[in-house]
Amino acid sequence: MVSKDLGFILKRFNFRETSVITTLYLHNYGKIRGILKGFYTPKKEFSSSLNVFSLNEFIFYPKHSEIWLVSGVDSIREYPALRSNIAKARVAGLFANIVDKVMQLQDPNKQVFALIQRCFDLIDINNESTILYIFLIKFLTFSGFKPEFGNCLNCKATLRYERLFSVARGGFICKSCSGADKDLLLISKQAWRSLTYIQDTDFPLVQRLNISPKCQDEIFYILKEFIAYHFEFDLASYIKNRNLSLTASKVRV
Ligand SMILES: [Zn+2]
Repeated sequence: MVSKDLGFILKRFNFRETSVITTLYLHNYGKIRGILKGFYTPKKEFSSSLNVFSLNEFIFYPKHSEIWLVSGVDSIREYPALRSNIAKARVAGLFANIVDKVMQLQDPNKQVFALIQRCFDLIDINNESTILYIFLIKFLTFSGFKPEFGNCLNCKATLRYERLFSVARGGFICKSCSGADKDLLLISKQAWRSLTYIQDTDFPLVQRLNISPKCQDEIFYILKEFIAYHFEFDLASYIKNRNLSLTASKVRV
């Protein structure tokens, strides 16, 4: 039966002469792959230009197979800065690709949909750097891979400015338990405070957070290592300007 839903275009490529294959993140259906047959013919059902990252309303036929037939699309919202500004385009590309990598097909998650929408809105008009960390920490939490910033992974004690992060186990270890774990990353109290603040604070309050460049380097390094270990996804290939030499030599203990 035909269905209708809002969705973001995560990826798209041309297929044969006139068709397009896309990866979409839909509000009610989650991630799907769709084919728009005859997109490059003058069909009135395809009124959107199908720009990557844009929000559209799709008409489609849900199926059990991997690629769904999309028979109509209307543009709802474009994010021009996400395509014209290179730094913003990289961050938006990172969001789209990590959602594609981590989320399973046809596994709806309305928190993830709302997060994509909120963060695309924000980076379209604001500086993208703090939004990057907010997106990543909240995305990991909403998608079921929440790193533990608040309690010790070993003894469950409430942490206060703890600084030793276990990449493999995905969280912080308190001082008295730290002897058991090798290969921990050390971060500053300020960076730890920013991580917990982002995880515990909702929009719109969280988006007012300012993070110093040094803390951004530390947070980036922790997230980069965690995401590479658990998802084989390389954040550094999207974000070129982070000072990775600082953290690479300093934080491993
Ligand atoms: Zn402990």
